[in-house]
Amino acid sequence: MQDQFSIMVHGGAGALGNIKDERVAVRYLESIRVVLEHGREVLGQGATAVEAVEACASLLEDDPLFNAGCGSVLNENGKVEMDAGIMDGRDLAAGAVAAIGNIANPVQLARLIMDGSEHVLLIGEGALHFAAHCGVKLTPDHYFFTPDRIEQLENARLHGRIMLDHDSEGDEQKYGTIGAVAWDRQGNLAAATSTGGIVNKRMGRIGDSPIVGAGVYADNATCAVSATGYGEEFMRTVFAKTIADSIEFRELDACQAVDFGIDYLRRKVNGRGGVICIDRLGRCASGLTTPKMIHGWIEHGGETYCRF
Ligand code: ASP
Repeated sequence: MQDQFSIMVHGGAGALGNIKDERVAVRYLESIRVVLEHGREVLGQGATAVEAVEACASLLEDDPLFNAGCGSVLNENGKVEMDAGIMDGRDLAAGAVAAIGNIANPVQLARLIMDGSEHVLLIGEGALHFAAHCGVKLTPDHYFFTPDRIEQLENARLHGRIMLDHDSEGDEQKYGTIGAVAWDRQGNLAAATSTGGIVNKRMGRIGDSPIVGAGVYADNATCAVSATGYGEEFMRTVFAKTIADSIEFRELDACQAVDFGIDYLRRKVNGRGGVICIDRLGRCASGLTTPKMIHGWIEHGGETYCRF
């Protein structure tokens, strides 16, 4: 087993106009730092990449600052409908849930689907049925709601818009989905992405986060990827897999592959969002088409970096 590991997490992309308020900026960065340090601890102790991304994504889901788990955005009916996906680069195993409520940690349910069912993606009632079968307790509605989210939905309705989490009239765009990618001490890669989706979305709308190859992807032969932004654009460009394929077929490193993917996203669909990626040698890279993305990384066990 090698000494080194790498981990990256994100908490959404966009214009993030609200980070002009320094206290808000500090809260975001502090949260990202705490999650990364947790990742350092578990990976340092020999956790697998899958265990690390599940643990880090769960912490971000628990933080109401982010659009996943507690603090998820609301759909057109004022309801929380969450999506999440997880993927293991060792064997391309994947698990995902979509359009679910009342599950505090959707990424953990996605992992249970990956490990304990013969399926990849379960949605709505079926996913909750599987959760009950696994002994996962339902969490009451009020746990997920925050006053900010209610106000945000009212705003979106007022303007007749569907919006990303960090979106608003003016320059306050942000896409608050969360994600984690990791490279463990055995050189395995994994990725996880979790989200409440976009504000005022139609009931039943599913985004890119639980779709393998769109918002989440991991393959030990290439890289691990987690995306955030307008899901429809990531699905239409099979974004995460496009990045992985650029490594597989063009022999790019993480930075070059992310640049390739971002250029492709922009050219093909004028896509809005960002991405984090670790390649099979543990090199970290990020890219975005929006002005900012909340993210951080530890490369090869080195220093912790947190950025917008
Ligand atoms: N990608 C997510 C979705 O479309 C939203 C986000 O990243 O904030 O559901």
